[in-house]
Order: sequence, then C-alpha cells, then structure tokens
Amino acid sequence: MLMMKAGVLRPARLVSLRKLNLDSISNGKDGVLVVGAMTTLRELERSAAVKEGWPVITRALRTLSNVRVRNVATVGGALAHADPHMDLPPLLSALGARATIAGPQGERSAPIESLYAGYLENTLRRGELITHIEIPPLGKRRAAYLKCTTRSADDWPALGMAVVLDGGEARIWVSAATDKPTRLLAAEKILKGQITDEKALRQAGAAAAEEVHIESDLHGSADYKKQLIRVYLARAVHEARNAVH
Ligand SMILES: Cc1cc2nc3c(=O)[nH]c(=O)nc-3n(C[C@H](O)[C@H](O)[C@H](O)COP(=O)(O)OP(=O)(O)OC[C@H]3O[C@@H](n4cnc5c(N)ncnc54)[C@H](O)[C@@H]3O)c2cc1C
Repeated sequence: MLMMKAGVLRPARLVSLRKLNLDSISNGKDGVLVVGAMTTLRELERSAAVKEGWPVITRALRTLSNVRVRNVATVGGALAHADPHMDLPPLLSALGARATIAGPQGERSAPIESLYAGYLENTLRRGELITHIEIPPLGKRRAAYLKCTTRSADDWPALGMAVVLDGGEARIWVSAATDKPTRLLAAEKILKGQITDEKALRQAGAAAAEEVHIESDLHGSADYKKQLIRVYLARAVHEARNAVH
C-alpha cells in the first residue's frame, strides 16, 4: 500500500496473506521467540512473552508511528518493505534475529540484516515469502532502541539507533540516516571493553558519523543526521546500560 501510495508500484493483482495462519507468537527451541509474519505490530507490542523476555521490542513498538498503523501493519510487511526508516529492522538485526523464508525452492533462514540491498530494495527472491522470524533470547544482554523524529513524535524517524550490549561488547545498528540498516563496526571496535568510558563513547560517536554514507531526506540534512549519530550513539549506549533487562 505504501508503494502504491507513493506511485512506485501499480500492481495488476494483490494477494492477501491473511488466511495463511501465520499470526502466532510462540516459544521455539532454546528460548527463541518465533513470531509469524502476519502478526500485527500491535499484537507483538501487547504480547506478555515479548514484554517479559524482550522488553526493548515492546518499548520500541510503543513509539512506532501510531496505534492505527500498528493495528494493521504486520511483522512480515515491516521487514519486507525495506524502507530504511522502518524501526524494526535495525533493532531485530542488533538482537541477532533471523527470518524464515519460504519459496518455490523450499525454506531458508536468513539474518534480518541480509534482507536489505538498498533503499526500498529487499533481497527476497521471486515467489518468496517471509513466514516467521526467530528472535534469540536476550539472556544477560542489555538492549536499547532510540530514534529521533523531527516533525511529530509519531513521524517516521530521521535516525534510528539500536544497541545491544553483551558483556564489554556492543552491537550497534543505525537506520533512517543510511539507505539500509547498517552496522557501525568502527564504533563497536572503539567501544570494545570501554562501554562505560565517556571519552570512548564520544570517539565512537565521531567514528560512527564518518563510517557510513548518510543521505539527506525530508527528515533532515546529511550534516544534521551526522550530528544525530554522534549524540544518539552515546545516548543509546547509556540507555542500554541502564536497561532493566
Ligand atoms: C502513515 C504511516 C506511518 C508509518 N510510520 C512508520 C514508522 O514510523 N516506523 C515504521 O517502522 N513503520 C512505519 N510505517 C510502516 C508500517 O509499520 C508497515 O510496516 C507498513 O505500512 C507495511 O504494512 P503491512 O504490514 O500491511 O505490509 P504491506 O503493505 O501489505 O506490504 C509491504 C510490502 O511487503 C511485502 N510483504 C508483506 N508481507 C510479506 C511477507 N510475509 N513476506 C514477503 N513480503 C511481504 C508486500 O508485498 C509489500 O511489498 C508507517 C506506515 C504508515 C501507513
């Protein structure tokens, strides 16, 4: 619908996935959470299992657009649409989640981050559908997702930043400023063993702003987004450090 409204796509036929029975949230092996692709974002947000095991997802969903959108939007659509402004792809990538994809050649599993080739471009092959996602347990990891919206609170983000801390190491993903969710490897390297060091956090923010190609868009100029990265990286690490879970 978004692509049709943007005039990018004029399909001759639309296929409903509603009756595929892919809207359950269940526990898989080894504490993995299995979420069907037709689960709505609202169902995910209200799931007691998600709130208990992955509170960072519940918190992120509460700020995703508005409740009218979340009532209708599905997990599969939120991942397949491949607009870099989407909130779930960077967070699920940082958490190490995977997608189960079914197609004419059978079923395959792929890390969430591998679903993206570029702006509005996913890597699904012809005839493939995302059927489920699998989210590994948080365990002792601590996570945060922060975003900055520049027009209204429920607007698409100008920047999304996901941080998962595991011992002294950080996994950091940025989105909305880049053409697809992107891991900030230089920043991660600087922060290794130093996630509580404020000087290292400033250095990591500066490195992050330089290591990715940033696009200007309706939500902010490239220079503005660079500054957002510098500021939000430290904020997101602080928030993850203080996360209850
Ligand atoms: C006004 C508005 C504001 C929004 N703001 C935000 C925001 O701030 N942050 C955010 O993250 N999102 C935002 N969204 C996006 C929203 O969360 C949905 O993700 C998006 O609209 C897709 O909706 P859908 O799930 O109905 O998918 P559809 O519109 O049905 O599908 C989207 C695309 O994904 C494909 N697709 C759908 N399901 C699958 C599947 N299982 N396997 C393979 N391909 C599939 C479709 O073919 C289509 O190309 C916003 C949407 C609207 C309308």
